[in-house]
Amino acid sequence: MSEKKIPYKIYLEESEMPKAWYNVRADMKNKPAPLLNPETLKPMTEEELSVVFCQELVKQELDNENPYIEIPKKIRDFYKMYRPAPLVRAYCLEEKLDTPAKIYYKFEGNNTSGSHKLNSAIAQAYYAKEQGLKGVTTETGAGQWGTALSMACSYLDLDCKVYMVKCSYEQKPFRREVMRTYGAGVTPSPSETTEVGRKILAAHPGTTGSLGCAISEAVEVATHTPGYRYVLGSVLNQVLLHQSIIGVETKTAMDKYGIKPDIIIGCAGGGSNLGGLISPFMGEKLRGEADYHFIAVEPSSCPSFTRGVYAYDFCDTGMVCPLAKMYTLGSGFIPSANHAGGLRYHGMSSVLSQLYEDGYMEARSVEQTSVFTAAEQFARVEGILPAPESSHAIKVAIDEALKCKETGEEKTILFGLTGTGYFDMVAYEKFHNGEMQDYIPTDAELQAGFDGIPKFPGNME
Ligand SMILES: *Cc1c(COP(=O)(O)O)cnc(C)c1O
Repeated sequence: MSEKKIPYKIYLEESEMPKAWYNVRADMKNKPAPLLNPETLKPMTEEELSVVFCQELVKQELDNENPYIEIPKKIRDFYKMYRPAPLVRAYCLEEKLDTPAKIYYKFEGNNTSGSHKLNSAIAQAYYAKEQGLKGVTTETGAGQWGTALSMACSYLDLDCKVYMVKCSYEQKPFRREVMRTYGAGVTPSPSETTEVGRKILAAHPGTTGSLGCAISEAVEVATHTPGYRYVLGSVLNQVLLHQSIIGVETKTAMDKYGIKPDIIIGCAGGGSNLGGLISPFMGEKLRGEADYHFIAVEPSSCPSFTRGVYAYDFCDTGMVCPLAKMYTLGSGFIPSANHAGGLRYHGMSSVLSQLYEDGYMEARSVEQTSVFTAAEQFARVEGILPAPESSHAIKVAIDEALKCKETGEEKTILFGLTGTGYFDMVAYEKFHNGEMQDYIPTDAELQAGFDGIPKFPGNME
């Protein structure tokens, strides 16, 4: 068979877009551990979860059996605004690196929110609307998730209340204004609008907040306001399910040209983009049909996979959310001010944690100055200005391509380019001015985080 010439960009036709999400849990022998009620330590029931989340999303959260879940037409129509996303052959980067490796990336930054998060935001907003709800609440740190959710809510005419970590609210006024442009109400957290916020403010006057605290406020508002539910942008099984659109599109495009990746790389914060990208490939690996080398990349400053423990832990600092079994640094762990805000989460998706525990994936941690070096190298030849989060994957893709240069191997490398970095220019400025620092937590600092993980029979005992 003569090899087809691979174009710089492979765009699927709209008619080739996936009509179903792929649920990798269906093919896992060891299923991800269920969420536990922190009071009873029993698995959260559908009923208990429905107080916080929309009904249909609860079903998806608990569904470990069905491999395919149809994407409702209205969501597919919304996807068409910015999908199919291109699969790019990084010819320019390959040439610059002078590597025999073939590098591909799936670009998810082609929408105003600037990241893959819109793929799940529209799905979550859709099911809230279908249930007849008035609105949703959420938290946002760096702002990508809040922006994506505001876009999805405005499209469906749903109210959107965002609790934004106070220091980001003040330091990232442009993100805030994008959210307000799409009609979201944005409150700096901690705030006086919730009981938990008032408590935190009384205990720590002048605090600039944290993601964990913003989650606690958003959950409180959702559970105390009739017609509202809470939505989360990563970590949960349902979010990985929605993000499988990334992987299914990628696989469809690769299959069309007979391309088979050897290595698949993604950055990992809560695990949603990585989980979504690798899902259909992991499915093949789990079913014994093909083999791939998967690499999760995380910041050295927040090394959940590479230095964390696999245990049940709280998803938020306020300890109001259910317990999830995951690789974690402890819900009290506060990562240093790494500029990849989307990767500063103490835990990791239960699905990916189980796959990692079972040896299906590798994880690496990288330091942020090396990440920005890779980001700049990439921007200069490929044109796209990458988000700091995405640049973690770029860094390892370049490392692997340079290994191929040494060995002469023509490996095919695929990585997820999750978004653009236009709102991260302060970080780029620090990097250019030589003011960026690498921070690696000490074992003692990590131990302090582990000490806060709940102890009960079978957990941390
Ligand atoms: C949020 C975010 C991430 C990390 O989140 P995951 O759930 O791990 O995918 C990565 N890249 C970008 C651009 C993000 O906004």
